[in-house]
Amino acid sequence: MQLVDTHCHLYLEEFDADIDEVIDQAGYESVTHFYLPNIDSSSIERLYALEKKFPGKCFAMMGLHPCSVKENVLAELLLVEQHLAERKFCAVGEIGLDFYWDKTFVEQQYAAFRQQIGWAIEYNLPIVIHSRDSMDECIAVVREFAGKGLKGIFHCFGGTYDQAKQIIETGFLLGIGGVVTYKKAGLDQVLDKIDLKHIVLETDAPYLTPVPFRGKRNESKYLKYIVERIAEIQSRSVEEVANVTTANALQLFGG
Ligand SMILES: [Zn+2]
Ligand SMILES: [Zn+2]
Repeated sequence: MQLVDTHCHLYLEEFDADIDEVIDQAGYESVTHFYLPNIDSSSIERLYALEKKFPGKCFAMMGLHPCSVKENVLAELLLVEQHLAERKFCAVGEIGLDFYWDKTFVEQQYAAFRQQIGWAIEYNLPIVIHSRDSMDECIAVVREFAGKGLKGIFHCFGGTYDQAKQIIETGFLLGIGGVVTYKKAGLDQVLDKIDLKHIVLETDAPYLTPVPFRGKRNESKYLKYIVERIAEIQSRSVEEVANVTTANALQLFGG
């Protein structure tokens, strides 16, 4: 069995003390690949350092997170553009819209999202979308780029069945993480109707820890609980969920 964590921030300070152990223990739980979304200029150095420490396992994305879209958005975007031109990345991410924390820079969030989608198309890279209280708006922006070969993941999907269908229609994948183990989220009723070929797995570590460790630091080894829950919801074997979602992820990111 092989699992892929399509979204984790293992380069953050939360893992400084025991990152070797975190990667090893994830390995014991069959997690072979770790895809690392960037946040902003403050995370790039750490991101690169982790990728360098674990070649062939950790893969960097480049992008500006919507929560980091502030007064200095132009300088931040310029940096993203420069890094994208310098080397290869597995994806542009994480990018998108977040209306939950702060709506001061909504207009700039839209502009940054569209700009970075443009670069993804230019470099032929998938995008990893962060959407919070903005699912319909993110879907609408992706639709603007229909027919341009844009691919990617709606990470940490927690929407309705109708939104899931719309995302699938755009050719995007649903990133499923710890939320699937939260009873109140109701994601089980959506996922039992979604074909596995549209799903990839993620932890978003150190955030969104699955049950039974909710409230503690999340780690890639907990992908196990997400796979098990999806298998349960879909009445399939854990191996089947692992095989199909891993193939989806490796195909998107190019292995
Ligand atoms: Zn996110
Ligand atoms: Zn994230």
